[in-house]
Amino acid sequence: MNLTQNRGTTPDERIALPQSPTRPELIQRLRTTPRWDLVVIGGGATGLGVALDAAARGFTVALVEAEDFAKGTSSRATKLVHGGVRYLAQGNVALVHEALRERATLLHNAPHLAQPLAFVMPCHRAWETPFYGIGLKAYQWLAGRRSLGATRLLSASEALAQLPGLQADGLRGGVSYWDAQFDDARLATTLARTAIARGAAVLNHCAAVRLVHEGERVTGVEVQERESGEQFTLHAACVINAAGVWVDAVRELDRRYKRPMVAPSQGVHLVVDRDFLPGAGGHHKALIVPRTRDGRVLFAVPWLGKTLLGTTDTPREDLPAEPTPLAGEIEFILGEAGRYLARAPQRADVRSIWAGLRPLVRHKGDHEDDTKTISREHVVAVSRSGMVTVTGGKWTTYRAMAEDVLARCFKAGLLPARRGGVTEHLPLLGADGPRAVAIAAPPGAHLYGSEAAQLQSLPGADRWLWRDGDGGLSEAMVRFAVRFEMARTLEDVLARRSRLLFLDAREAERLAEPVAAIVGEELGRPIDAAQLSAFRQLAQQYQLRP
Ligand SMILES: Cc1cc2nc3c(=O)[nH]c(=O)nc-3n(C[C@H](O)[C@H](O)[C@H](O)COP(=O)(O)OP(=O)(O)OC[C@H]3O[C@@H](n4cnc5c(N)ncnc54)[C@H](O)[C@@H]3O)c2cc1C
Repeated sequence: MNLTQNRGTTPDERIALPQSPTRPELIQRLRTTPRWDLVVIGGGATGLGVALDAAARGFTVALVEAEDFAKGTSSRATKLVHGGVRYLAQGNVALVHEALRERATLLHNAPHLAQPLAFVMPCHRAWETPFYGIGLKAYQWLAGRRSLGATRLLSASEALAQLPGLQADGLRGGVSYWDAQFDDARLATTLARTAIARGAAVLNHCAAVRLVHEGERVTGVEVQERESGEQFTLHAACVINAAGVWVDAVRELDRRYKRPMVAPSQGVHLVVDRDFLPGAGGHHKALIVPRTRDGRVLFAVPWLGKTLLGTTDTPREDLPAEPTPLAGEIEFILGEAGRYLARAPQRADVRSIWAGLRPLVRHKGDHEDDTKTISREHVVAVSRSGMVTVTGGKWTTYRAMAEDVLARCFKAGLLPARRGGVTEHLPLLGADGPRAVAIAAPPGAHLYGSEAAQLQSLPGADRWLWRDGDGGLSEAMVRFAVRFEMARTLEDVLARRSRLLFLDAREAERLAEPVAAIVGEELGRPIDAAQLSAFRQLAQQYQLRP
């Protein structure tokens, strides 16, 4: 779908997705539609995937997201679209096979937001190169015709030539293989917009506050639109709880809630400059450490002009919207990165630091104080009241998870069965544009795919608020976020439509005021001082004091 020129009479019309409903129209539809086939709670990867799949099959769908799309875990991933080499080592071939199939599907349906990436694994003992080499060849074979490139065994000098930022001391060899990367938060917004284009009513800043029961059955959701405070009820044949690590809070609203499903585990990332991981000959390559001192996998990934270092796996009991990294996690990542990179990153080098919570599913016998051993697979559960809860899994498999959710709805008799596979060949908005620039390069118009021309036609296309290489953040990107990408707050723009908060938190803090002025202009009302100050505080939380 192409964006057309904005019609622009009132502020609410100006923020509309052309050919799509405005926010007031969406709210009106939610308020007045007597009954939906599905109401989805949660606008992360999981809920948005379900909304798009169901809408593409012709069901009527409403989705509410309490904060913003991907505000939860779905903006805090390592940004890999992967089968999971680690799960292959654990012998979970089915999980890896499914994820590799989904990797190919996503690369095809959203080439502006998900692309292949080469990885180098350094080896320090003689047996490691053949050992990991065989495993990674199996990973390539498992992908079959969907393989992105050959796995190769490398000598030490070849490994260094491929990844000049590697620590040369003690290097005995290496293995190179292919996987893929993406921009998670932009993909989430794109899923929301694609679902809307398919007829779904998808709204951010609107929370599910109560479940509606008729007898023992869940038959609807009471929601609160956060900007006005207005509450109204959405009636549905089927209510899907896709609230990520917060699914248990939604289950507690049901009458038959017994015990929690989720064992949350925190993962932290540090972001440093790109020159800690220079690519050879202009090619971007990632580093994977197969076994850190605590037995985990560590990545250094080139992403949007910077380098991501992570991650950790720390059990956590509380579920804050903005989890804070622990001192031990920071030391661990810096220490491990320092062992494998030629230039060891220091605290002062960190441009942004953020944490996310994995919604790992508890199974009988799992050791909850060791979340590394808890399954990464997803679970779909139908309660006696008929509410469908889906959690766990990975970003990579969001589409397959959505198909499973619909299959369970059919099996439970909540919806009439309709054929699946509809989203397998469904391009997401922007997919049909040129793809000359890598996601590893600084952010730019290329991330907008076929919508880049519309972006560049907005005021301020050449006015850069923040510059990184050939890219950065332009005034037009801020305007596009509010007009066409459903951004409502300063944080929506600076954390998720643009990823500046995740790339360079000091710059995000510095730009808060000028960006707020543009956002206010586009919304037709000023951003108030409280919002500005809350964003500055958040940006400080993403900074690491030396
Ligand atoms: C550190 C880390 C690294 C990861 N790396 C990768 C990776 O590289 N590749 C990969 O494939 N996967 C990765 N994952 C996993 C992946 O990010 C998650 O599986 C996925 O994002 C979960 O999405 P979700 O929609 O289930 O949850 P969320 O994204 O958390 O979405 C749930 C949403 O529900 C909303 N919500 C909660 N309560 C309500 C309510 N009452 N009303 C309305 N809305 C509500 C929340 O605001 C939230 O936005 C990683 C995870 C972590 C933590």
